[in-house]
Amino acid sequence: MSTPVLEFEDVSFSYGPTPALRDVNMTLCEHDYMAIVGPNGGGKSTLLKLALGVLKPDEGTIRVFGRRPGGVMPRVGYVPQHLNFDTRYPITVDHVVLMGLLDQHGVGVYRRGLKKRAGEMLARVGLGHAAGRLFRELSGGERQRVLLARALIGDPELLLLDEPTANMDRVHEARMYEMLADLCNGLTICVVSHNVNIVTRHASMLACVNRSCSMHPLEDVSDGHIHEIVGSAFLRIHHDSECDVFEPHQHHHHVHARGNGGGS
Ligand code: ADP
Repeated sequence: MSTPVLEFEDVSFSYGPTPALRDVNMTLCEHDYMAIVGPNGGGKSTLLKLALGVLKPDEGTIRVFGRRPGGVMPRVGYVPQHLNFDTRYPITVDHVVLMGLLDQHGVGVYRRGLKKRAGEMLARVGLGHAAGRLFRELSGGERQRVLLARALIGDPELLLLDEPTANMDRVHEARMYEMLADLCNGLTICVVSHNVNIVTRHASMLACVNRSCSMHPLEDVSDGHIHEIVGSAFLRIHHDSECDVFEPHQHHHHVHARGNGGGS
């Protein structure tokens, strides 16, 4: 039996009157690679924030390495959609990477060896030359690679990524996923993605998050079947009479976009 790394048991969470997530059950085991897909506003980011311990569930239990989330941070790496500080702030690329060690080393006490390590991490994501550059001057795709290096510098066992390719073109997006697969071989991965086609090339499990969450192992699943699974998960929203979050035309747009997204 593989060891569970991330577990959600009957988890519900609301920001306001409408639940963002309801009765979510899922288990991610060591070395699993889970792709999370779902419509905008479906609760994907919320699910990651719960796993990080940034949000607390209203109901249910979440365990990360068998413990409450939040207290095991060095074992968890996180790649956000965007970096939260103002990108005009003149921070250099290697310092962004070193932020990944703040939990372990505190602010402002980076030793020289750590700077070298930041350089090595940057080299691993193909940005060894960029260590001294200003983060704000990098392209969106380069910034995402820096954030990946930042997440990996602490040697995490579980890596959570929230749309790491949000503003990339198809070629860069595919490369980012190749890089992720290469660098993170052996880690447990949970990645939110808008591109079912690309993310499922590498994932072992698919989670469709649409207020509720359905899990689908991907071994022996054909591409066509993946689209059926995703399509029906999205359709649930359409037929859920309680659902007041999405307009039907938005829903159709999503299915349509995915149907055409990278089928070539
Ligand atoms: P996704 O990542 O799938 O796009 P989110 O988890 O960001 O979805 O959002 C799920 C739902 O929760 C949406 O209806 C969204 O509007 C709402 N929501 C997200 N963040 C907040 C917040 N900070 N305050 C209130 N509502 C929020």
